Amino acid sequence: MKYPAIQNYINGKFVAPSTSRTMDVISPLDGNHLSTVPMSSSKDLDDAVQAAKAAFPAWSKTPIKERVQVFFRYKYLLEKNLKELAELCSEENGKTYGESVAEIEKCIELTEFATSLPQLVTGEVLEVSKGVECRTEHVPLGVVASIVPFNFPSMVPNWTIPNAIALGNCMIMKPSEKVPLSCGRLAEILKEAGLPDGVFNIVHGDTEIVEAICDHPNIEAVSFVGSTKVAKIVYQRATHNYKRCLALGGAKNHLMVLPDAIPGMTAQNVAASMSGCAGQRCMAASAMVGVGNIDHIVDKICDEARKIVPGQNLGAVINKESQERIERYITEAESNGAKILVDGRNTKVAGKENGTYVGPTVIDYVTPEMSVAKEEIFGPVISIMRTNTVDEALAIENANPYGNAASVFTQNGGMARYIIDRASAGMIGVNVGVPVPREPFSFGGWNESKFGVGDITGKSSIEFWTKLKKSTTKWNAEAGVNWMS
Ligand code: NAD
Repeated sequence: MKYPAIQNYINGKFVAPSTSRTMDVISPLDGNHLSTVPMSSSKDLDDAVQAAKAAFPAWSKTPIKERVQVFFRYKYLLEKNLKELAELCSEENGKTYGESVAEIEKCIELTEFATSLPQLVTGEVLEVSKGVECRTEHVPLGVVASIVPFNFPSMVPNWTIPNAIALGNCMIMKPSEKVPLSCGRLAEILKEAGLPDGVFNIVHGDTEIVEAICDHPNIEAVSFVGSTKVAKIVYQRATHNYKRCLALGGAKNHLMVLPDAIPGMTAQNVAASMSGCAGQRCMAASAMVGVGNIDHIVDKICDEARKIVPGQNLGAVINKESQERIERYITEAESNGAKILVDGRNTKVAGKENGTYVGPTVIDYVTPEMSVAKEEIFGPVISIMRTNTVDEALAIENANPYGNAASVFTQNGGMARYIIDRASAGMIGVNVGVPVPREPFSFGGWNESKFGVGDITGKSSIEFWTKLKKSTTKWNAEAGVNWMS
């Protein structure tokens, strides 16, 4: 085992869980046994909640301009430790080192946004009558929880950590049991940045802890990022217990390619979008709908896909189960009549025989009823469908239950606007393969890709992590008893 057994992080210290149940943490890159992660109990969660609750009065009363000083230092420490954090991210998740560097850089950008929060939460004040003022303030909620998936071990936790904590909340983080190491390093860095003990806590585990979070009476809000199946469970359970909840789910992102698209640029974007992070991005292109004759672009997509080499510029998928699931999808599409133009099945990387790799895969002549057209594959696979008109392409995009992202590749501005207006997704790209809005714009999909109001990052997250206090004050002795009269 490369690293010591992982522990929970409660009140500024790593502490042993109360249970002995653990899971192995395996590197997808080469099958190396990295560590074990504890499957904590509801008692461990309660210890963390009590620590967070105790830290809340002092932290929430600290002026926000002081609170964000922690995040100025945190940003500097993320930069200073970038290489080490990126290596750890790559090791536990399987993505390439370059992708991991990009992930830590995104954490830095998210933190930069949080340092600007004092400028954004100034509240409002207005003299509504002579000597009578109404004023609004953003007040933190208390103890909040963040439940995260495996595909971004550092970035998704940082969608919530800087904003929720800078806004005055105390947090319980529940990392993915598949990639639990990065969060522990983030805790150490937050402490080094000066975050008081108890403000940030980690409780490792699986379903039991997630359910305990949804049920705990002292947790005010739950943010969740993961599959749609679990997002629905968490959203229902947390809101059933009268908590605020924002639950981001899975995705099936469609790229619509029009015949006037620039072939080289389009092919590069399609190939990069479907294969980046081994296709394990909720913003990855998974289905492509070609309108009219786009054979020349498909040829170029295949050329680009063949340049993507597992173990070099393509990372591993998270585990064997995932590898087998992705390969099953490809085989099923083939047996249903689709054409496999580039085949990533049975990939082995020399010297890393226990790694779990799937090569880039391009499937053409997919029909909308095939499972590769409808379901989230979460691997480096693009399923190409063909239509004659833009409206037919939009009908396919609109029919999918998800709604994270959609993109169009064209040189026709009017057509791009037509598609922006009609695609049923929260984040739309024009000639952009992965249309993630950069800060301060917020991140969040529609339909079954997100349950709850607002988005998880950017300005929109302020409303989720705070409640508004409205005060009306009268300093005018001559005014009547009722200022409205
Ligand atoms: P997952 O839903 O399996 O797990 C997410 C979290 O839920 C983990 O912490 C896990 O421990 C917990 N969990 C798993 N099963 C549970 C259950 N039955 N009850 C309660 N908790 C449970 O997701 P994953 O496989 O880790 O991540 C991949 C998924 O996340 C994909 O579907 C991807 O699209 C999605 N994702 C979405 C976004 C977005 O912004 N919409 C971002 C990243 C990932």
